[in-house]
Amino acid sequence: MRIVGLTGGIGSGKSTVSNLFKAHGIPIVDADVVARNVLKKGTGVWRKVLAAFGEDILLPSGEVDSPKLGQIVFTDPDKRQLLNRQLAPHISSRIIIEMFKLWIKGCKIIVLHVPLLFEAKMCKWTKPIIFVWVNTDTQLQRLMARDGTTAEEASSRINAQMSLDLKRDKADIVIDNSGSLEDLNEQFREVLVHVKNPLTWTEFGLSRDGALTAFFFPFFLVLS
Ligand code: ATP
Repeated sequence: MRIVGLTGGIGSGKSTVSNLFKAHGIPIVDADVVARNVLKKGTGVWRKVLAAFGEDILLPSGEVDSPKLGQIVFTDPDKRQLLNRQLAPHISSRIIIEMFKLWIKGCKIIVLHVPLLFEAKMCKWTKPIIFVWVNTDTQLQRLMARDGTTAEEASSRINAQMSLDLKRDKADIVIDNSGSLEDLNEQFREVLVHVKNPLTWTEFGLSRDGALTAFFFPFFLVLS
């Protein structure tokens, strides 16, 4: 199975690229969706986070107010570490379960959409790594437009992340999403050709069909 890594800075266009993969029938494991499910009302993690951060982080529905929690941990590194410690192991194990479900289904290519792919060291599971890059001005404008934030808020969120240029250098494929959606689509078409190349022997071996072949091949030799 080929596990493609998809990452990039905040508001760079990862979800937009993710949707293009989905539209071409390639399944996505999205760390943000996984994190939301892990934090759903009533789960063990929800209780732990509530104990650590208090009821102020809840919406009237009892669900966690993610933007509010994000704001708290963004301004306080100790709280950010605490939240990471509470969430990270559950998110990684959930991601592994989601990937296993897709493996069982026999998927040959899946995309792991993880904003902190390098920081979480999940980059070692993925090949190729696709990095969605955007120039800072465009990133700022898009973040402000999407989230309705001020320029100061948007730039402090951008500045809090590891430099995009450092991460970009570690990627196998860089999509420059500073242009229009048509530009993005054009680059995506090339990326898709690359991603859909035949599986290598190692990737085949790691796929469900590869595992079944390896299992049944000795029986075939004995019977023939
Ligand atoms: P986050 O890090 O917050 O999860 P993201 O990397 O997933 O963000 P998107 O939500 O895909 O980024 O894109 C950010 C915003 O920019 C969205 O409003 C999206 O519609 C818009 N956008 C993405 N690519 C383009 C583009 N090429 N042209 C115009 N707008 C774009």
